[in-house]
Amino acid sequence: MSANPKIVPMISDPVSSPPPRGLMYEESLLWEKERSDHPGVDLPQPAGVKLRTGQPARGDIGLHQVSEPQAVRHFVRMSTWNYSIDHGFFPLGSCTMKHNPRLNEKMARLPGFAHIHPKQPQSTVQGALKLMYELQNWLAELTNLPGVCLTPAAGAHGELAGLMTIRRAHEMKGQGHRKIVLTPDSSHGTNPATAVMCGYEVRSIPTKENGRLSVEKFKEALYATSPDGSDVAGMMVTNPNTCGLFEMHIQEIADLLHKAGGYFYCDGANFNALVGKVRPGDFGVDVMHINLHKTFSTPHGGGGPGSGPICTSAELAPYIPVPTVVKEGDSYKLQTEEDRPETMGQLKGFQGQFGMHVRALAYMLSHGADGLKQVSEDAVLNANYILSRLKDDYHVPYEGPCMHECLLTDKTQKESGVTTLDIAKALCENGYHPMTVYFPLVLPGTMLIEPTETESKESIDKFITVMKGFAEDVRQGDTEKFHDYPLNTPRRRLDEVKAARSPVLRWK
Ligand SMILES: *Cc1c(COP(=O)(O)O)cnc(C)c1O
Repeated sequence: MSANPKIVPMISDPVSSPPPRGLMYEESLLWEKERSDHPGVDLPQPAGVKLRTGQPARGDIGLHQVSEPQAVRHFVRMSTWNYSIDHGFFPLGSCTMKHNPRLNEKMARLPGFAHIHPKQPQSTVQGALKLMYELQNWLAELTNLPGVCLTPAAGAHGELAGLMTIRRAHEMKGQGHRKIVLTPDSSHGTNPATAVMCGYEVRSIPTKENGRLSVEKFKEALYATSPDGSDVAGMMVTNPNTCGLFEMHIQEIADLLHKAGGYFYCDGANFNALVGKVRPGDFGVDVMHINLHKTFSTPHGGGGPGSGPICTSAELAPYIPVPTVVKEGDSYKLQTEEDRPETMGQLKGFQGQFGMHVRALAYMLSHGADGLKQVSEDAVLNANYILSRLKDDYHVPYEGPCMHECLLTDKTQKESGVTTLDIAKALCENGYHPMTVYFPLVLPGTMLIEPTETESKESIDKFITVMKGFAEDVRQGDTEKFHDYPLNTPRRRLDEVKAARSPVLRWK
């Protein structure tokens, strides 16, 4: 570790400046910067001086012995290293890295929203309750699923809320014996994990050669252990799916499932491709979660809390978690278990991530119905543009058109020894955050690319040029360098296996 922080400037405009080199920085720890003889800017105590008031009885509280400016700079520098959509192009498939409009932030910081307390009497927070009520209505309208609960704290939490709602509905109907949940082999890991957490047994449906579900394979899974499917509680399907493709037979599959008495849980993480175009309630969905941080531009990941509201059919609405907001006369009210005894219960403290509700509604209102539709059209257009420009350079496993993300593999490059991992590292070397790699797991060496809809053609072209450059290097036999990338970063290629198997978690 060097004594001085080595800062590689990498934040540059993706269009007007050349891509920066190196995606990582170097910063020594505060412990390494500190001086042991005196704290902060204080000078050491001169020897042999007696204070007239006696020595102050201060114990050592173990703070870093650095000055305030040193500490501030240290943290401010590091705060700029967390790569984000505000730094540059972020093609991480499956994650929908959206631009967060500043207007949303401004709204969420209004004192009337930011400074209220969940234990305030409801009569004093009518504006906040009205906002939640309106968000519920927007989500119901966009999905055609009228039962909305805003409380889940993330997509995965929404899955849990949704599946517990299904379980509650089966129990109330005397169908608690149904123990199986179907899910495609391409599904996001949270789907089977959620089903298991709810006490269900997971049965995987194999994906067809075209990356989609087939009615035949679905039927085989549905009737595998019971001729009428009466042991199946439901299925969890993402649409568009994790390969970025629309499930074309979804209506037929949903009808078969309903006939067998099961419920259709739709993982709504990919709703960004459908908003304003397709209402999931129209293709047979009974419950769906919505990642506000993926589809409605609330902050993502470590920065802000997630929010994963669920929307359900009218049939399932009585069972969704409390609290939900209702309008009684001119006032708004949070419903409790007393109001809705059939509810599956409460899953989250208070009313959920209210700040995210403000941001999501601000996004919806500022875009309007036509604007939201345009968002999904642009998301799909950008992904198809990348797919069509890279299809001669990289292997495209499933024929397009794709939805809001496109899937490539390293099949062509691998013949020359260059893998998806090498390509991801080469992107780091060129100042790009890599796409999602080795997911979905249905094929080897997958690269899932999701450009954001707000990305300009120029910045997408630049990314395409870099990707085409890699393919050309491989064709020319210039492959050795790929195994060494990244070169311009303080940390070079890691031993990934060792890093995962024996991580060093303690600073020595
Ligand atoms: C992101 C994602 C999830 C999980 O959502 P979180 O908000 O990260 O918990 C579930 N399914 C799919 C398909 C996803 O892309």
